[in-house]
Amino acid sequence: MDVANQVSFLVIGGGIGGLTAALSIAKCGKSVHVLEQAPQFGEIGAGLQLAPNAMRVLSKLGLEDVIRECAVFPKRLVLMDAMRGGELSSLDLGEKFRTRYGQPYAVMHRSDLHAILLEACRDSEQVTLLTDKRVTDVENLEDCVRVTCADGSVYEAMAAVGADGLWSTTRQLFSDDQPICSQYVAYRGTIPTEEILQYARLDDVVMWIGPNLHFVQYPVRRKELFNQVAVFKSTRYRVDSDDWGTPEELDAVFDQCFPAVANAAKYMQRHRRWPMYDREPLDNWTSGRLTLLGDAAHPMLQYIAQGACQAIEDGACLALQISRCGEDIDAALAAYQAERTVRTARVQRTARLFGDIIHTEDEATRILRNAFMQKRTADDFGAVDWLYAPGVPVHQ
Ligand SMILES: Cc1cc2nc3c(=O)[nH]c(=O)nc-3n(C[C@H](O)[C@H](O)[C@H](O)COP(=O)(O)OP(=O)(O)OC[C@H]3O[C@@H](n4cnc5c(N)ncnc54)[C@H](O)[C@@H]3O)c2cc1C
Repeated sequence: MDVANQVSFLVIGGGIGGLTAALSIAKCGKSVHVLEQAPQFGEIGAGLQLAPNAMRVLSKLGLEDVIRECAVFPKRLVLMDAMRGGELSSLDLGEKFRTRYGQPYAVMHRSDLHAILLEACRDSEQVTLLTDKRVTDVENLEDCVRVTCADGSVYEAMAAVGADGLWSTTRQLFSDDQPICSQYVAYRGTIPTEEILQYARLDDVVMWIGPNLHFVQYPVRRKELFNQVAVFKSTRYRVDSDDWGTPEELDAVFDQCFPAVANAAKYMQRHRRWPMYDREPLDNWTSGRLTLLGDAAHPMLQYIAQGACQAIEDGACLALQISRCGEDIDAALAAYQAERTVRTARVQRTARLFGDIIHTEDEATRILRNAFMQKRTADDFGAVDWLYAPGVPVHQ
């Protein structure tokens, strides 16, 4: 076996969650290595909504100004009827919202956020970024954790953080559960805004909802690009097949929608589809000196746009506990887990429930839902206070 590299903190996975954690730990003055399996750091996918709970962390990390240079700050979150075309509900993201939560609601291209985090990590003397490091094994030793990579390299750290996403290898140390397929699939991508101006609202995040489907639209990158996500439940889903949620189904489903949706859906890229998974919440995601973070710990359906936001919160919370507990790493990991498991489980469950509400096929439920939504006023923040309001301790 190769001689182990002795390091302080290890983050396994260099996605948005892993990089935020590395940066947060570095800000506490600790050194941290990031092991990423890919040959290069990067993000695929399209837009990302960043609610005030995530913006609070990013702002404390000193990234507010660089984010402002490329993000878009929408005026409203709007729910529309995807079949009939009317507005069902909206949330005002203006002055009252910002004052209440102390932060704006931002939308970005996810590769822009990832690049900002990466550059901040590169600028930090405390962060070492390593690529082509696919972690294959994690083993707890006395007072440290040993991590082995596919290339034979070995690292021994005071603590390791598994931030390796939905299909996490590190989670296997805690659980033999598997991602749960929702039978929904997403197509997503961005297009130059001028190509879709006719169907693009540039001031709002718009979510069109209908039976077994939804369609999300918002601008990103200084409004130069327009992001669209088309999501539907496939009637061809089979557990042992990949031939479901096809582009032909996408066309058939969205052709039946209100013309503004049907026409905008024609702009979707079709070369890649994202089947939608989550998992049941875990009570425990820490074993010895390994803990989890982000989608590795609590993958969720994206319906309330919180997966990355929660991963970002995780990183801040972990760093705070590390700085609070000093040399007592076990106490830090225990405090981190105690603080995060309850909240993230609630977010996972709420995302599922919101999916059931927006996708309902039942006519009576739809009528009641719409009546309830239309009664809400745009400055009624009751439903999102628990999610967006300050309360998650963040490293100062
Ligand atoms: C359609 C869609 C829309 C979404 N919209 C939003 C939104 O608007 N707002 C929001 O907050 N969230 C959103 N999400 C959720 C969000 O994308 C994820 O929750 C978030 O990206 C998770 O980040 P992560 O760093 O935990 O995991 P990942 O982004 O999956 O990163 C994991 C990293 O670990 C690496 N890795 C994996 N295995 C290994 C290994 N064995 N060794 C080393 N490295 C490894 C991977 O290469 C990757 O770089 C959306 C998701 C989808 C599918």
